[in-house]
Amino acid sequence: MITVTKSYLPNKEKLFHYIDKIYTSGQLTNHGPLVQELENRLAAYLKVSHLILVANGTLALQIAYKALNIQGSVITTPFSFSATTSSLVWESLHPIFVDIDRHDWNIDPREIENNITLHTSAIVSTHVFGNACQMEAIADIAKQYSLKIIYDGAHAFDVTYDNQSLLNYGDATTLSFHATKLFHTIEGGAIITNDASLAAKIRLMINFGIASPDKITTLGINAKMNEFQAAMGLCMLDEIPHITALRKERWDYYETHLAECLTLQMRHVKCSNNYHYFPVLFADEPQRKTIQQKLNEHLIFPRRYFYPILNELPYILDKKLMPNAKDISNRILCLPLYPDLELTMMKKICDLIRE
Ligand SMILES: *Cc1c(COP(=O)(O)O)cnc(C)c1O
Repeated sequence: MITVTKSYLPNKEKLFHYIDKIYTSGQLTNHGPLVQELENRLAAYLKVSHLILVANGTLALQIAYKALNIQGSVITTPFSFSATTSSLVWESLHPIFVDIDRHDWNIDPREIENNITLHTSAIVSTHVFGNACQMEAIADIAKQYSLKIIYDGAHAFDVTYDNQSLLNYGDATTLSFHATKLFHTIEGGAIITNDASLAAKIRLMINFGIASPDKITTLGINAKMNEFQAAMGLCMLDEIPHITALRKERWDYYETHLAECLTLQMRHVKCSNNYHYFPVLFADEPQRKTIQQKLNEHLIFPRRYFYPILNELPYILDKKLMPNAKDISNRILCLPLYPDLELTMMKKICDLIRE
């Protein structure tokens, strides 16, 4: 069975070496030496100033909203993974959906202004499939209306924009290190910011607000990453160049064989590619269904990322229509893409689609 993704398993001996270190130190969690090592190495690798590791990417979003004092309503995208919306609702924030651009599949900045009210405090937008949002336009609007910007960068590990990290933009950017992501710590995530005092606040918040053994200075929660997760991350990080090279080879193969008959995401010119996903748009919904069924008959299971669109989640009461998101969601499939996907299988997938 071929699925859309497969969790990467790094070198086992190296992982055991780190686990030996955990047994020696006896420290399993609470910002232990491996979490500290991974934070330092990731911040340097990604070229970001403050990176705080957390237990998963959904908590990363929730903590970013809390730390930035987001209240009331938040402008957001209908075309993302459900956590982008559920994290808002979980924090009692009101999501206001704004349709996406038909070409880059990210929130359409031209639609944002009409949806801002007196209660709006932030914009939460995803760099979908690692493609940069139209950040200059978003920043202009945010400045004019004093809104915070949080980017969900779960797909944007290692992506650059204008020759610096894409993760450096907005008031904060969050990452997910779930097992299905390009870089993973089994479960995990991170919050990235350029603001040192915000970073300090987040560090307190993820550990119950405990400032010292007998001092709790702020409301917090438990969102700590543990040493075993960090051990996996340290092993993964060493292999990222190798993983990316294998992904690129496969991404390029799909592009060469499918770009002329299918529509691809229009990627921002200033933005690099991390080859995390290979999404394609079919001509219409019936064609998408037929081809998906055909692939399934051959035990190939691409995924409809993203379906359902988030404004249609059962707990969303505001029934505004999002025609672009709806149309793309009906026609999209993410094709299988992972480092050891065999080229003979890719040929079969391309042949089946072209046929
Ligand atoms: C994976 C993902 C998340 C959630 O991350 P978890 O680590 O699974 O909690 C959030 N947003 C997007 C866009 C994602 O793809």
